[in-house]
Amino acid sequence: MERLENKTALVTGSSRGIGRAVARRLAEEGALVAVHYATQRDAAEETVRLIEQDGGRAFSVRAELGVPGDVHELFLGLEQELKARTGEVVLNILVNNAAITTPAGQMPEDVTPEDLDRLYAVNVKAPFFIVQRALPLLPAGGRIINVSSGLTRLANPEQVAYSMTKGAIEQITLHFARHLAPRGITVNTVAPGITDNGSAIFDVPEAVRQMAQLSAFKRVGQAEDVADVIRFLATDEARWVTGTFVDASGGTLLG
Ligand code: NDP
Repeated sequence: MERLENKTALVTGSSRGIGRAVARRLAEEGALVAVHYATQRDAAEETVRLIEQDGGRAFSVRAELGVPGDVHELFLGLEQELKARTGEVVLNILVNNAAITTPAGQMPEDVTPEDLDRLYAVNVKAPFFIVQRALPLLPAGGRIINVSSGLTRLANPEQVAYSMTKGAIEQITLHFARHLAPRGITVNTVAPGITDNGSAIFDVPEAVRQMAQLSAFKRVGQAEDVADVIRFLATDEARWVTGTFVDASGGTLLG
């Protein structure tokens, strides 16, 4: 039997990158997956197509996060589709994956208040209110998985603003894990290291070679390396794991 049969999942930012791999993994286990995106409708539809091609079930839902009304728009679309497809509005698995980063090479001296506001709006405020909005929909056995970054444990001045937001999402994990344990819901953080998300830098061999040196395994991560960890946390097999920080960085944090 598939481990997520009769479960529903929302994966934010699953039009591409790690989110797409997570959506595919959860669907492989039998979950009906909401593929969330902001701008890349075609990419989101491609995620849905890949899932259906593999015999899974999925639908896309659009909402730009970090703007007024974002969470409301997301849940309007989500709830409508869940109702239509399952006859009820239950969300078993929430993966807060969507995020933005700071521009490459931005030194701490150059971070503006507007940069910080935008990063917090997308990477912290949106996931917080997504969790809050999902609370009535999550049944016993529910799962929340927040995607952070190894950069909360590794100094990189060029990423200070982004890393601050990832530190904040880890706090969502910690406090909601305690809050939701009485309901049998687990909340965990997964922290990737450098992971090929299909962006142009991963087509540059010299850049990839340098990035690979950061991992103990001397390669960059694949989206599936991270998605497999998230899949495990979503299953019943992870029922005794909550409030944790799971390092999915290929040993990058070993130094
Ligand atoms: P990508 O940049 O490849 O994809 C980002 C996804 O988030 C897309 O689906 C995008 O949707 C969505 N998104 C971005 N901004 C918004 C927004 N304002 N509103 C709604 N959706 C938005 O991400 P990655 O796969 O690289 O990263 C996934 C997660 O992993 C992130 O939390 C990231 O911080 C974390 N991470 C990634 C690492 C890496 O090396 N890749 C390393 C460490 C952590 P659309 O395309 O439709 O706009």
